[in-house]
Amino acid sequence: MTHSDLTVVGGGVMGLSIAWEAVRRGLQVTLLERDTIGRGTSWTAAGILPPANDRTTADPFDRLRGLSHRLHPQWAAELRATTGIDNGLRHCGGLYLAMSPGEAAALIGLQQYWQAYDIQATRYDTAQLLADEPNLGQGAAATRLRTAFLLPDEYQIRSPDHLRALRAACQQAGVRLHASTLVRKFTERGRAVELETDGQTFHSDAAVLAGGAWSSAIATASGVDFDIIPVRGQMLLYRLPQPPFRRVINEGNRYFVPRDDGHLLVGSYEEEVGFRTDTTPAAIATLRQWAEGLYPDLQPIEPIRTWAGLRPNTIDGFPYIGRVPDRQRLFVATGHFRSGMHLSCGTAVAIVDLLTDTPPSLDLDAFRIGRG
Ligand SMILES: Cc1cc2nc3c(=O)[nH]c(=O)nc-3n(C[C@H](O)[C@H](O)[C@H](O)COP(=O)(O)OP(=O)(O)OC[C@H]3O[C@@H](n4cnc5c(N)ncnc54)[C@H](O)[C@@H]3O)c2cc1C
Repeated sequence: MTHSDLTVVGGGVMGLSIAWEAVRRGLQVTLLERDTIGRGTSWTAAGILPPANDRTTADPFDRLRGLSHRLHPQWAAELRATTGIDNGLRHCGGLYLAMSPGEAAALIGLQQYWQAYDIQATRYDTAQLLADEPNLGQGAAATRLRTAFLLPDEYQIRSPDHLRALRAACQQAGVRLHASTLVRKFTERGRAVELETDGQTFHSDAAVLAGGAWSSAIATASGVDFDIIPVRGQMLLYRLPQPPFRRVINEGNRYFVPRDDGHLLVGSYEEEVGFRTDTTPAAIATLRQWAEGLYPDLQPIEPIRTWAGLRPNTIDGFPYIGRVPDRQRLFVATGHFRSGMHLSCGTAVAIVDLLTDTPPSLDLDAFRIGRG
């Protein structure tokens, strides 16, 4: 029998972040992952971290985003210092382009939001945009741009490297990591939680469910009622001799993420197709068409890789973070949809505050299971 202070179910960004935060605050932690630790949906993510400011907003979601945005550079530095792994955090800035009247209206709406919350945003015309990113000069932005904004405080991380760093940091700090360990069910028994797997039963003082898009199955088996909706996203990866852009480039739900070494990510898509993680020729063709329209130099180049991941969504788009109703020792951290890489640090801090009876860094009421 294995006993810990905390068992974390799920070895994606949420589970690893919670485990690392918990072990750094003195808890003895076990992490159970049914597959490979540091993969899941998190491995597939672009790693865009849009700017947010928790000091200027009362909105709970924006406070979570703002706290996470402040923590990411600290976590990147600490991960690098402890593991030697660079998680790819770059203060690269993000450009937001509007090529249609609808996109322009959406950006003007966002401009009011950025202004209200003191998030730096500079409006660009075509000439300013092309001066900033000359390689957009051959494509659609040169002739069809309606407006653009630069958000200098947008960051990017390389998701696979961030996960590798978190995993190494957890290992170094003594988290007991169990891959290939599917948790079927968790049950509160007296002053402990029992977690049933196919081979072994784990016991701990508390457990956190961080199973991403697959969280509903274990919740239902354990008598906990909430729904997570998987939303597939598809991506392309190119390898170029050097990065064509300095910044993340966003248009609606599509984006380029340029890496230092010339890898260029193109995303993404939103589809509700259950738990299917295959890519489809139609989605890949649409992404290629968008990418080649903005940057025609890509036309003769084949992507080196394509993949899909399942974003964990909820009915109202807010994640579930906090204690499970009517249970003392069960906690949940899931449903972060398109923003799980970004929100992972703030979520981890908030969960570990609860676990350690620390004054809360965030008010989690808006994220509770069973909210109206
Ligand atoms: C194409 C794409 C692009 C994205 N881009 C961004 C981005 O730019 N920025 C951003 O912030 N977010 C982005 N996201 C969203 C982000 O990837 C997710 O919100 C985040 O990865 C969710 O993390 P997680 O740890 O909750 O889930 P996961 O990473 O899926 O981890 C959950 C883990 O739990 C395990 N598990 C499930 N059930 C069990 C069980 N019963 N027992 C044991 N283990 C179990 C799974 O195997 C999995 O490894 C993107 C997503 C996609 C698909």
